[in-house]
Amino acid sequence: MIAHTPTLFAAVALVATILAFCLLLVGRSSPRDNLLLTGCGLLVHALAYVCYTVYAVAPLWLSYGLGNSLLSLALAFYTASLFRVREQVVPWRTIFVIPACMLVGLMLLLHTVEPRMLLATLVLMVQCAMILYWARRHAERPGRAHLLLQIGALISLVGLGMRVVAVATGTAADMRYDTSNLKQSVSVAIGTVTVMMYSIGLVLMAKERSESRLQHLALRDVLTGTFNRRAILERFAVELDRARANTTQLAVAMIDIDHFKRINDLYGHLAGDEVLCHCVRQLQQRLREGDSLGRYGGEEFLLLLPGTDHAGAMGAVNGLREAIAQSPAWFAGDRIELRFSVGLWCGKPGREDSTASLLAQADAALYRAKAAGRNTVHLAALADLG
Ligand code: GH3
Ligand code: MG
Ligand code: MG
Repeated sequence: MIAHTPTLFAAVALVATILAFCLLLVGRSSPRDNLLLTGCGLLVHALAYVCYTVYAVAPLWLSYGLGNSLLSLALAFYTASLFRVREQVVPWRTIFVIPACMLVGLMLLLHTVEPRMLLATLVLMVQCAMILYWARRHAERPGRAHLLLQIGALISLVGLGMRVVAVATGTAADMRYDTSNLKQSVSVAIGTVTVMMYSIGLVLMAKERSESRLQHLALRDVLTGTFNRRAILERFAVELDRARANTTQLAVAMIDIDHFKRINDLYGHLAGDEVLCHCVRQLQQRLREGDSLGRYGGEEFLLLLPGTDHAGAMGAVNGLREAIAQSPAWFAGDRIELRFSVGLWCGKPGREDSTASLLAQADAALYRAKAAGRNTVHLAALADLG
């Protein structure tokens, strides 16, 4: 199946142009998604293929020199977009110096065949390898989008590798842009797939990013950054089901800062906010992996300690209480002491236990801890047995 190569180039240019305009339109209306750079990449990609289309008709500096430099520029845009979408610092100079070098190099080697082809191919290969490396290297949470981008980069490396083989085996003439043969058809097909994968990969990455941003907003407490009430209750339901299914222990601690209203009254509301953040930081530093902390209400926190029995939970929560008592918060030069009381439910939850019933028991124990003078831990299960 051999297609007319210039027609194929024109088709790729058309597809890339349409995709580019779609992305530029969407990107303008939602700048947070950072789709503009991907759109620019696609537009430049399309221009590169327009240059290839006029090979043998237009001067060589335009069809070959500029064409390949534009393709290199398109890859530079995709690379920059990769950083932008992930909200990382873009190494602009490193990325964009490459197409500039390609342009200079190609102008110098324009009237050779193998050397100019080797230069263009190797530079593009380096850029694809960089995309592959950066897509893997700095990914916080690699998902489907990263996979697509990496596959795209790998496929383009294969396509470009075909050109290197052509030079090495003395068949560089087969890869001229006005020649139609199977190798060229495969090579252009690879180019098309690459355009699709880079653009879809980057769009998907922007989508994954905004989804995780929304999820973060929905599940995190705005002030302290810890889980909010909804998130910690969801966790609680999951942990309760797990403990019930595996008949393992679960500890549920309701933590309430003592006399927090006084802190607000004495030092101001902003100081109170800082105390809440300080408290969360201190607690989080000391939790095990698998423990969950969430802000249940104003100055109340819910702590879940899966797989922890009475003795373990008492030890852990008392440890936290003592650590907090020894780590005062600071606000505007004021040292603010803080203490908290805890109502603790521990045990192997049975069929009759629900999140609401365990919370009620932990809350009742908290009430007793407050009544007993505060800065203490009361155990619900034992208290309720007695
Ligand atoms: P107790 O020892 O009995 O728990 O007394 P308390 O003063 O800690 O409890 P109380 O329920 O009387 O007061 C809680 C205060 O927490 C009242 C409310 O204004 C304050 N508060 C709730 N949310 C926030 C917040 O986000 N920031 C600040 N600064 N204060 C808050
Ligand atoms: Mg309180
Ligand atoms: Mg309270």
